Amino acid sequence: TPNPKRSASMREFKKSTKLDNVLYDVRGPVADEAARMESEGLRILKLNIGNPAPFGFRTPDEVVTDMRQQLPDCEGYSDSRGLFSARKAIMQYAQIKNLSNVGMEDIYTGNGVSELIQLTMNALLDNGDEILIPSPDYPLWTACATLAGGVPVHYVCDEQAEWCPDIADMEAKVTERTKAIVIINPNNPTGAVYPREILEQIVEIARRHQLMILSDEIYDRLCMDGYEHISIASLAPDLPCVTFSGLSKSHMIAGYRIGWMVLSGNKRCMRDFIYGINMLSNMRLCSNVPAQSIVQTALGGHQSVTSYIVPGGRVYEQRNYVYEALNAIDGITAVKPKAAFYIFPKMDVKKFNITDDEQFALDLLHQKRILITRGGGFNWDKPDHFRIVYLPRMEVLREAMTDLADFFEHYRQH
Ligand code: PLP
Repeated sequence: TPNPKRSASMREFKKSTKLDNVLYDVRGPVADEAARMESEGLRILKLNIGNPAPFGFRTPDEVVTDMRQQLPDCEGYSDSRGLFSARKAIMQYAQIKNLSNVGMEDIYTGNGVSELIQLTMNALLDNGDEILIPSPDYPLWTACATLAGGVPVHYVCDEQAEWCPDIADMEAKVTERTKAIVIINPNNPTGAVYPREILEQIVEIARRHQLMILSDEIYDRLCMDGYEHISIASLAPDLPCVTFSGLSKSHMIAGYRIGWMVLSGNKRCMRDFIYGINMLSNMRLCSNVPAQSIVQTALGGHQSVTSYIVPGGRVYEQRNYVYEALNAIDGITAVKPKAAFYIFPKMDVKKFNITDDEQFALDLLHQKRILITRGGGFNWDKPDHFRIVYLPRMEVLREAMTDLADFFEHYRQH
């Protein structure tokens, strides 16, 4: 039997200091407060997480049927990079996107892109190595770089230029310790899609300073309004490139956990890094095998997401509505997203007297029971933005926008 006296004097277990500067606020303190309110029976409208399934975006039947059928064959570990069938389909997808010099051994599946971001940061960064990451960003990149001992250096994306990276700022932030440039294209949280000229200028910087290019393209099949998605790796056949994508967003199967990364371009200079990638990939044995088993079906078959992002489709219409409703609020402006399902509006901080965006998010939660993510959660250094996920159905969004307009009409932060 446990000795109560002894347990009373038990030492305290502190989290590791490696986590001291790690920020991942999408599921942070404001979300915790929302969970607490829910546990008291309050209904919270969650506009904070890009998780399509709870909003009625269903996995294509063909994908579910195929997984069910293959389940008996998925009991064992796979090759640590992934099943042959999955990697073959990903390789063909890489060919369609014009990535150069990609073989089967250059493809790694993961439990979502998330696992592969962490793996790559650990394989690449020594303590103090710098990596260029966008601001605003999808915060996992910054968190994983920090956890790996690296130093995330943020380059600014310019709201005035449809949220494209500020190329001069990017180059000004390169130092002797910079190892790589991360781009998120299409972008979360801004919905930007980068045109060829911008991508070419980023490639030029990488070329001039001998940097690796890491491109997160998980939203590449969710471009609207005819915007073409170009993989930056297709413009950099002479440089070391890693391209990340997966099925969480395009096939509405975020819960199955399947993503991948593709090495391309100059692999000779990546030899030692690849050794590290292989070691870490082996250490985690393999990614979820049932989820790998449907990659071929998902990538090869009917692309169900296509019907959502054209006029009349849910994502397209919801984007248009939210964009217009937000811009109609006095003191709020927002750039129209071209892809994905997020919008990153700006607040007039003088008008609303906002100095602390976490307090703003809490006030909105308490007053209107709407949960959003504050801009600071995306490594945006001013308190003047927040992110909305526009996945909920139109009637829910209408209610949310009415409440939001009412909130801002009366809001004055103290
Ligand atoms: N990259 C970006 C830009 C994302 O927005 C997300 C999820 O929101 C991920 C990666 C992680 O996706 P996965 O479900 O593949 O881990």
